[in-house]
Amino acid sequence: MKVGVLALQGAFREHIRMLKTLGVDALEIRLPGELDEVDGLIIPGGESTTMRKLLVEYGFVDTVKEFVAAGKPVFGTCAGLIVMADRIDGRKQDLLNLIDIDVERNAYGRQVDSREADISCKVIGEEPFHAVFIRAPQILGSGPGVEKLALYQDQVVLARQRNILVATFHPELTGDARVHQVFLQMLGRKAR
Ligand code: GLN
Repeated sequence: MKVGVLALQGAFREHIRMLKTLGVDALEIRLPGELDEVDGLIIPGGESTTMRKLLVEYGFVDTVKEFVAAGKPVFGTCAGLIVMADRIDGRKQDLLNLIDIDVERNAYGRQVDSREADISCKVIGEEPFHAVFIRAPQILGSGPGVEKLALYQDQVVLARQRNILVATFHPELTGDARVHQVFLQMLGRKAR
């Protein structure tokens, strides 16, 4: 099992490190053709406007859509969630449109750049998960196909639709690998 991390921009090194601590073969993805070598993809946090530009410039849009259509799992965190969302502030994006959610960028306000909170989440177990939010988006709404996996202050912060997993926070910045394990389970399910 090999997992790619989109390495155009943002916190890709931290995801690679996390995957390696889990014993997973992790690959930095810089060109669309490199997706042929992996079974799953992580789109990291960073700056979604820059990431959007690079996704288009490097020709990733159709390749990532085909990757997902082939049933391979993709996990987007923070800016990675934003570029995968179907809508931003109620308006349809013209990008990947991989998950039926509507998002607001930087939704926790400008003064508070980041915050940390313990969230509870059935799919990752009893112990709360220490979530780090950095200029995080909020999910304003979601379609019926979207599973709401974790909430923080009544907001959905971890969600899944078929082979797409998204988090508004940065699970790669803590020593806790349980959210990554949820993603790896999705890969296992696919392989079976
Ligand atoms: N605020 C950033 C954006 O809108 C996302 C921040 C992040 O990925 N940590 O692109």
